[in-house]
Amino acid sequence: MKWLRRKPTIIAAVSLVVVLVAAATLWNISSARTFQFFGELVHRVDTHEKIVALTFDDGPDPAGTQQVLDTLAENQVQATFFLMGRDLEKHPDLGRKIAQAGHEIGNHTYNHPRMVGVLPSTVAKEVEDTDAQIRKTGYQGDIHFRPPHGRKLFSLPHYLSEHHRKTIMWDVEPDSEGTPTAQQIEQETLEKTKPGSIILLHPMYQSRDQTRQALKPIITKLKERGFRFVTVSALLNRA
Ligand SMILES: [Zn+2]
Repeated sequence: MKWLRRKPTIIAAVSLVVVLVAAATLWNISSARTFQFFGELVHRVDTHEKIVALTFDDGPDPAGTQQVLDTLAENQVQATFFLMGRDLEKHPDLGRKIAQAGHEIGNHTYNHPRMVGVLPSTVAKEVEDTDAQIRKTGYQGDIHFRPPHGRKLFSLPHYLSEHHRKTIMWDVEPDSEGTPTAQQIEQETLEKTKPGSIILLHPMYQSRDQTRQALKPIITKLKERGFRFVTVSALLNRA
């Protein structure tokens, strides 16, 4: 009868393992580039046309905004900026410059939290406060959403789906991990970009000088290969 006495311990141990495996699975699902539980997620579009969307996350920040805008203007490229409400509130002039240059602006939350295990009310506040800051820039187009750290699980996709908002992910991310050099960023982008790709770069903050340096060669070389740059909305409209 020893076994019977140990049974609760065994059940508890098995339950713990099940809970841990489930938690790990959900954590992995939360960062999936191509799947979420509700609503529409886009990480690239299917097309044979050589069009790609350049997207920039975070900011606006004085360290990077002007240089990025100058590079885009010199090369006559339209891009999409996923901006944070907090940074827009701090630097409204930079937000206006991005809007005035005709680029698309997307929502990257107010405070950049990992949007997993968050209350629906937190999701609504993060998204709506940021929308309000984006509209203050004068930007009038659709506002797509990109989750910070690419994280989403239940409440965020549910909110976005209810509000008919798309989650925009990416299929090329050369500067998300580690501290790659400008040359490595350029090389990875050139290797992985395909027709319909969504390229994610982080050029905004002081520490991101290598990304800013890579931007011009990326644009030049993709153009040489016949690619054309469009905003995320334009890319979606052609899909
Ligand atoms: Zn971010």
